Amino acid sequence: MKWVIGNWKSNGAWSQNEALLVALKALVCENTRVGVCVPFPYLAQAQRMLQESKVLWGAQNVSPFGPGAYTGEVHAEMLCDFGCRLTIVGHSERRQYFGETNAQIAEKIQRLNAVAITPIWCVGETLEERERGAWQDVLRQQIVEVVEIVGAAAVENVLIAYEPVWAIGTGRNATPEDVAAAHGWLRTVLSEVGARSDLPILYGGSVKGGNAAELFTVEGCDGGLIGGASLSAMEFAAIVAAA
Ligand code: PEP
Repeated sequence: MKWVIGNWKSNGAWSQNEALLVALKALVCENTRVGVCVPFPYLAQAQRMLQESKVLWGAQNVSPFGPGAYTGEVHAEMLCDFGCRLTIVGHSERRQYFGETNAQIAEKIQRLNAVAITPIWCVGETLEERERGAWQDVLRQQIVEVVEIVGAAAVENVLIAYEPVWAIGTGRNATPEDVAAAHGWLRTVLSEVGARSDLPILYGGSVKGGNAAELFTVEGCDGGLIGGASLSAMEFAAIVAAA
């Protein structure tokens, strides 16, 4: 079973979303789990448009706190009110622009687990880290620091998204060899820390209709997290068809 999940990032407008959600709802996804992570203000719209379909929806972030005096935060129970089944944590854009740490990611995973929303836990190295040969250490640290806090049992139901930062939004996707090596390494690290090594691991980074099939057929690749191409109904449909 493959997964194809869209990440709209900070894009969308009520009127545009309507057409995109109609197209999503019409997708035939027999052997593929399809989902979309939308900005908070559009969760109600996604819920209304997708609730009678097989397409799942969710958010792109969640508060590491529960209810209370945390101005501007959206906590996990609120996401339940909008029928979210998935939510991204640790996206590289949140790590880079908002200083999201592995400790916060651990907290967010626990908050989502508590309300049975599947965390999509993003990991990945920067170009500089890859070029100095540190990608394995970086991925290991991203996994280990979270599992040390939450314990292996808390990551039993997550989806991992391997998203090399240099491939996100750049048009330069990782090669099938890169994906095989990274997913294999992540599985090694997961088993070292006592976690399930057969967790679904999605690839993310410049996936399009034209390269999805070769990336998704890599051994150990369970589908994709799709940024830019999820904003085009045609492109996203081609990616789902390729899965
Ligand atoms: C992402 O934002 O998770 C992503 C993979 O982006 P893109 O597909 O645009 O590279």
